[in-house]
Formats: sequence, structure tokens, C-alpha cells
Amino acid sequence: ARKAALSAAKGPGATSDGHRMPLLANIGGPADLPAALEAGAEGVGLFRTEFLFLDDSTRAPSEEKQLAAYRAVLEAFPEGRVVVRVLDAGADKPLDFLTPADEPNPALGVRGLRSLLDHPEVLRTQLTALAGAAEGLPVYLEVMAPMVADRADAKAFADACREAGLRAKFGAMVEIPSAALRARSILREVEFLSLGTNDLAQYTFAADRQVGAVSRLQDPWQPALLDLVALSAEAAAAEGKSCGVCGEAAADPLLACVLTGLGVTSLSMGAASIPYVRATLAKHTFAQCERAASAARAVDSAEEARLAAQAVLSGE
Ligand code: PEP
Ligand code: MG
Repeated sequence: ARKAALSAAKGPGATSDGHRMPLLANIGGPADLPAALEAGAEGVGLFRTEFLFLDDSTRAPSEEKQLAAYRAVLEAFPEGRVVVRVLDAGADKPLDFLTPADEPNPALGVRGLRSLLDHPEVLRTQLTALAGAAEGLPVYLEVMAPMVADRADAKAFADACREAGLRAKFGAMVEIPSAALRARSILREVEFLSLGTNDLAQYTFAADRQVGAVSRLQDPWQPALLDLVALSAEAAAAEGKSCGVCGEAAADPLLACVLTGLGVTSLSMGAASIPYVRATLAKHTFAQCERAASAARAVDSAEEARLAAQAVLSGE
């Protein structure tokens, strides 16, 4: 019965008093589209394009092959938003032709945008394929770069998008604390931000996301992480630009309310979480979300932050 109630309640994400919070899907490719549509996703907030590159780690897939995959995703959301992330190789996702073999600390090495700037032909092919895929479609395409550290990174990415003739919004992921701290300067170059809270937690706490022994520090309820989310969202609001969340944090219904209260403008998650996040958001006003966010930031641990937000959101 619970499941039926959840799937019956589709429709746009919003708080009980109508503050809109678009609920988008994280996908790895066209195979994930049916689940996203079934969950009532309003678009794609993170298309991890890495999957296209996994078949052959010695070279990039052809422009035609990429174009077909991008087109399938864009066609699934003719009226919606689709946010495509350019290749995020390196660290936990090494590719032979891009990733240096002998890095002592791969997570701190040449990964994400860094490897694309070292191999501009790979980035160019991907952007050209995206431009071709979007041609003639009314879809609202957004393209973003992973692992943007500073304004120079954001500018290099935006320049590459322009050079490829891409008609889309260009954005930067906020996954490195420097990007959150200086979000305003990054926004001089790009039109939106998207918080990758998985990596942002890893780099904020110097805690490898693949090492279970430090998982306590990977908890997205950590107040330090919430502070960086707030900084990014405030910078975007000041510039009249959007700042979404596409890390795991968005999939926790209670935390989704807190993120809403912190001022983020969309939430993207695995499709399975969308109905739960939609249902929880719909039970609270925006002011309550703001109070929960303040309460979560006023304490000093993830556990206390969770309890503080829970107290605010259940005591109404
Ligand atoms: C993140 O880091 O939060 C993110 C969304 O990207 P990925 O998990 O693919 O690194
Ligand atoms: Mg990431």
C-alpha cells in the first residue's frame, strides 16, 4: 500500500507550501531511463558518461557512438532538463589512455576535468557529440565538468564548450572545497553549479570514499559539509544562478529537506529514491526546511545534525 501511495504521488517536487524543488535522476546511460521515467523524474540531473568509456579502456568511443547514447537520453525528456557530466575518469575510474599509471595518490592526481584538459581531443569529441545529439531537440541541455578546482578550470571548460559550438548551459561541479569557498569566482565563468557531495565529503575530510575505515567522515550530514553546501548555494543565489545537488546526500529524504533549506535549487538522485524524497518534501514548508538546516548547522557532528533536523521536522 505504501508503495502504491508513493507511485501514485508523482508530479513535480515541492514543499507543502509550493516552494519548487525539481527532482531529477542520476543515470549511467540509456538503460537507466525507464526507472527514471517510472519514478516521475523531472529530468536528468547527473548523466555519468563514464559508462560509455568502459568497454574499451585503450581509446575513447567514436563520436557516432557517443551521439547515439546522448540522443537517447535527451529524447526521453523532451520538455525536461538533462544535465550531462563530461567524462570523469581517474582515481576510482581509471582509463588506460587518460590516467597516468603511477600516481601515488590517484584521488589527488589527474582525474576528471584535469585529464580532459590534458587530452583536449577527448573533450572536444564528447562536446561535439553532445552538440550533435541536441540538434533539433527542444530539450534544455546543461553540460558540466567534474572536479573543477578554481576559476581557471571553469574558464577552460567553458571555452572548450564554446569552441565545440555547444548550445547549452555550461556548469561546474562543486566537489573540491576550493570550489565551494570560491564559488562566486567560478560563477564568473559558468552558468550553474552542481554539488557532488560524495567527492566533496572525501576532499573536505581527507577521507577516501573507498576506505570503509574512514566512512564516519563520509557522512553527508557532517556540519562542515553542510556549511560548504550553504556557501555554494548562497553564491549561486547572489548571481541569480542555480545550484543543485547530485551526490548521495540528495537521496536521503530528511537531508533533502535540509538541502532545500540551505538554498539548493534542485536535487538529483538514483531513481529509486525520488518517490521518498518527493513524499517527505511535500510534508514540510520551506520555512521548516530552513529551520532544520539552521539546526543541523548549529551542532558539531553528523549524528547531532541528523537528530536536530529530525526534531525540527517532526515537531511541527
Ligand atoms: C559526487 O562526487 O558526489 C558525484 C556526484 O560524482 P561521482 O559520485 O560520480 O564521483
Ligand atoms: Mg564526484
